[in-house]
Amino acid sequence: MRLVLATHNQGKVRELAEMLGNSYQPSAINTDNHYIEVISLKSYPDAPEVVEDGATYAENAIKKASVIAEYTGHLTLADDAGLEVNALDGAPGVNSKRWVGEDATDAQRVESLLKVLEGVTDRRARFIAAIAVVHPDTVPEVVIGVCEGRITYVPAGQSGFGYDPIFVPDGYEQTFAELGEKIKNRISHRANALQQALTLLQ
Ligand code: IMP
Repeated sequence: MRLVLATHNQGKVRELAEMLGNSYQPSAINTDNHYIEVISLKSYPDAPEVVEDGATYAENAIKKASVIAEYTGHLTLADDAGLEVNALDGAPGVNSKRWVGEDATDAQRVESLLKVLEGVTDRRARFIAAIAVVHPDTVPEVVIGVCEGRITYVPAGQSGFGYDPIFVPDGYEQTFAELGEKIKNRISHRANALQQALTLLQ
């Protein structure tokens, strides 16, 4: 089975491919041990850009997966994720990518969030991921994964992407960026959603 990962974010591609049991190599089509051939948008340089303007993670994930499934003609998986901070009433949430500005870097987003949270002692937060699986001929399906945790006061660690250097998942004392891919890919919001999504692929 051929599965297109509808994302340009190489951090996500690495995570998803790894979780699918795939030794993914950028720009190569490769077949995993089981039966899913994983392809990212790198293999479709002319694929349409999808504007993530939905009101919910699920809406955005379905939109991304549907547009790319239509374009490629293949079963497509897309995710939309965000970080929800209690002290900010759930912000940045579904706007996690854009809330500092469309062209901001991960480091700028991290810096901005830490600044907004200066002096705030309630550091509770959670990552949420919606994963949509869409086949060109069928109705879209979507699942949601959650990972509870807290925001640190300073960034730590090199692994992962996005807000990983300032997010400590419940049950751990280190950030996702310190814990590394292996642990993150077992307990993350995306891992949780992907496990549910895999049952949709069977
Ligand atoms: P999107 O799903 O690409 O729209 O992600 C929205 C924002 O949340 C981006 O700024 C990502 O960097 C961030 N984000 C999503 N998933 C993760 C994650 O697993 N770790 C850290 N940041 C993430």
